[in-house]
Amino acid sequence: MSFLSYIKKWSLLFLPVSLFFACSDEISTADDEYTVFPDNDYFFSYAPNDYAANDSISANLTHGVKLMVHPKASYELSFKKDPSVSEVPELQLFHLYLNEDSTAYYGKKIRSLHPVENNGRYVYNFDCEEKDIAEWATSLSVDGEFYKGRTDSVRWIGRGSFSDHFSLNLIVVGEHTLTSDDVGAEELARKTLLAFRRYYTSVTVDTIYIRYANEHPTLGDKYPADEPWLAGRSSEDMFLYELGGWPENGVREALDIVYVYRIERDMTIGYASLFSGNLGGGRFSTVLVGNHVMVNGDPKNERLLSSGEIVETILHETGHFFGLRHTTSTMNDFAVSRDASIIEDGLEDTPVCMELLQRKLMKQPVVESPRFQLPVMPGNVYERIYWASSDAMIIASCPDASNFMFPASLDEPFEGFSEQQLDIIRRNLMLFPH
Ligand SMILES: [Zn+2]
Repeated sequence: MSFLSYIKKWSLLFLPVSLFFACSDEISTADDEYTVFPDNDYFFSYAPNDYAANDSISANLTHGVKLMVHPKASYELSFKKDPSVSEVPELQLFHLYLNEDSTAYYGKKIRSLHPVENNGRYVYNFDCEEKDIAEWATSLSVDGEFYKGRTDSVRWIGRGSFSDHFSLNLIVVGEHTLTSDDVGAEELARKTLLAFRRYYTSVTVDTIYIRYANEHPTLGDKYPADEPWLAGRSSEDMFLYELGGWPENGVREALDIVYVYRIERDMTIGYASLFSGNLGGGRFSTVLVGNHVMVNGDPKNERLLSSGEIVETILHETGHFFGLRHTTSTMNDFAVSRDASIIEDGLEDTPVCMELLQRKLMKQPVVESPRFQLPVMPGNVYERIYWASSDAMIIASCPDASNFMFPASLDEPFEGFSEQQLDIIRRNLMLFPH
C-alpha cells in the first residue's frame, strides 16, 4: 500500500469499485457508472441519532461527511428535498482507510444508492455489513458531477442489533485518597451502580466490576499503585485507552470508567468523547473521571471531590459516551463541533438556557481534539473562578440545570435524563458491539 502513502487529494484516489461489501438494500442501487469521491480536505463527523441542528453536516453532505458505522446496524440518512432542483441525487458511500503514516484518508466506494421520497425528504436506507466499527464518507452526485441542490436538515437514524444490557468496569489508576465524604473505591463502585440503575432506566446495567490498573495482566507495571495519576501529564494518552477492554472474560465489553487522582485541566473532573461507540478496547473505549479537581489552573491548588460529585460526573460523561450532547452548548462545544448552529441538543423535551448562551458564561479553554471530547466542569469550583454571584444565580435558574447533561455540576439536585435522552442511550447502546 506504499503507493498511497503520500497521496493527499481524493481526486487521485480512484480505486477499483469493490463488490466486497455487497449491498442487500431494497432501495434501488445505482449502476456504478460514475464514482464521485468526496473532495473535502477536512471532514465533519456525524454520529447517528444526533438531533442537534448540525448545519455543517447539511452543508457538507454532498462533498463529504464522515460517518461512524457499526456492524449489523441499519441506517436511514435523509435530508429535505430542494424543490428548485429536478435531478435526484445519488448517495455514494466510501469506506475510509488511513494511510500508513496516518496523515491522510483514502476511500473505497462501497455503495451507490438512489433515495425514496417521503414527506418532502430524500431518504436513503443502507445496512452496515462491516465486521468492525468503521468510518465511512458520503458524496451526493448526479451523472458523475456533484449534486448542486441544497441538502438541508440532515437526519441520520441508526438501529443496532446488540443487547440493551451492559456492565460497568471501574478501573482505579494509581494512588487515591478517600473522597471528601470518606468513600473509597469499592464503595464508590457500589454507589455508581445504584445511580446507573436509578437513572439509566431505558437500559439494564448488569453489574459493576472494579479493577486496579497496577494489577493489569500486561500493563500493571506502568501504573504503580503508590503514585497519584495525573491524567494528561502522567502519560500522553489522557484517556488511557490502553486500559479499555480489560482482558478478562465478561469484563472486556464493560464500559470502562478510568478513575484517576486528577485530570490535568483546569476545573475539569470528567471527560468522554461524544458518541464513543466502543465498548471493547482501544480508541474511545474509556470515560475519565478524577478524584480531585485542579483549581485556577494551578497544579498546587486542588479540591477533593465528594462521592456524589464523582458519581454524577460518571453519569454525565457516560451520557456523552452514548451520544448525548449538552442541553446547552458551551464555548468549548462550539469550538469542538466547529458548528455555530449547535446551540443545544435539538431534543424537544430538554430546555435550553438562553441566558447561558447570551452571556457566554460557559467559558472553558478549548481542548484540541481529533474528535469530540466534552468536559464537564464542576460548577461550584468553576463558579468561584468565573462566575460573578449574579451569574451563579442565572446558572442555577437555567431551565435545564437539573438535567444530567447540563454542562456544569451544581449544588442543585439532578432530576435525571429526559425520555428522548433515554431513548438515544438505548438506541446507541444497541449499536455498539458488546
Ligand atoms: Zn459534558
